[in-house]
Amino acid sequence: MDNQITDNIIELLKYYNNPSTGKPYDVKKEVNVVVRNGEANITININPNEIEKFEIDKKNLQERVLSVPNIKAANIIHTAEKKIENIKKPDTTKYNLKAKNIIAIASGKGGVGKSTVSANIAIALKELGKSVSLLDADIFGPSIPRMMGINKKPITNEDKKLIPLDSYGVKCMSIGFLIPEDTPTIWRGPMVMKALEQLFINVDWGETDYMILDLPPGTGDTQLTIAQKVPVKGAIVVSTPQDVALIDARKGINMFKKVNIPVLGLIENMSYFICDKCNQRHEIFSYGGTKNEAKKLGTNFLGEIPLNIQLRESSDQGKPIGVYHKNNEIAKIYLEIAKKIIE
Ligand code: ADP
Repeated sequence: MDNQITDNIIELLKYYNNPSTGKPYDVKKEVNVVVRNGEANITININPNEIEKFEIDKKNLQERVLSVPNIKAANIIHTAEKKIENIKKPDTTKYNLKAKNIIAIASGKGGVGKSTVSANIAIALKELGKSVSLLDADIFGPSIPRMMGINKKPITNEDKKLIPLDSYGVKCMSIGFLIPEDTPTIWRGPMVMKALEQLFINVDWGETDYMILDLPPGTGDTQLTIAQKVPVKGAIVVSTPQDVALIDARKGINMFKKVNIPVLGLIENMSYFICDKCNQRHEIFSYGGTKNEAKKLGTNFLGEIPLNIQLRESSDQGKPIGVYHKNNEIAKIYLEIAKKIIE
């Protein structure tokens, strides 16, 4: 019911004029609609200098929203998204990254499959003829070397820069090579930014069409600092379908919005399960939550990936599904996602 109400409100706003511009609301950028138990909270981003125009219009808009079937209440909230003053423009000269498009893969929490998605997107982009690098910045669980089947350590070139390890044609480098795996998390904080800087500055990345950046899960300082310092072209947020995961994913999206990084879209991982015995589809973590969330947040939905044993096995054995099982349904889903990224 709440989803239906949300859809109806968004539809209504598409034809309702923003009192400042005189044009219908841009529902992707200017409004956010959240409906819980029939009660709608509609947040509208406004220019604080024009608050009066919006306040005059508020009652009218509220009445219109209250005409939506089954709605119980409607709150209109005006917010002026404060530009964060101290956010510097990315210092590209310092990092001197030559990738044409840096795409950050993020998740609100760990274990939702962010690294799996990063590795498979990198492989899919490579399959589509792009040159790709893959930077594993997941300080809490660097798993890209395992997923990409890397079992050696990088060496340095004559300029003392680390040479990324080539795996399936993708240039890979992981924070795991710089911080020993058994370093307690508490020590990681201070070491982390230094090590991450090294990954950007002291690696001979060369030029690639895409750099996939596997961020640490969550929305802490580290993620924010990377997002500010690296010229990220766009971010993708991975979530599983349950509400709890989505709440965290929402935080991730807000973080990118704060630092003015466009969110390219959401991916739902572990979306459903097709039983290989009964061939029935099971929606273990419920289904479709991420797609709905994308709609609510006015961002794209890039695709859904089922819970699949072959994917898990091939990831954990370092034999990416897009290389070893090209005809697998999941390899095809990743190709479709990669095509959307290229668009
Ligand atoms: P995160 O980076 O979010 O912490 P990982 O990518 O490391 O998560 O995934 C956690 C575990 O879940 C890994 O063992 C991985 O192989 C498995 N996994 C991820 N996605 C799927 C999926 N769609 N189906 C089955 N297993 C998956």
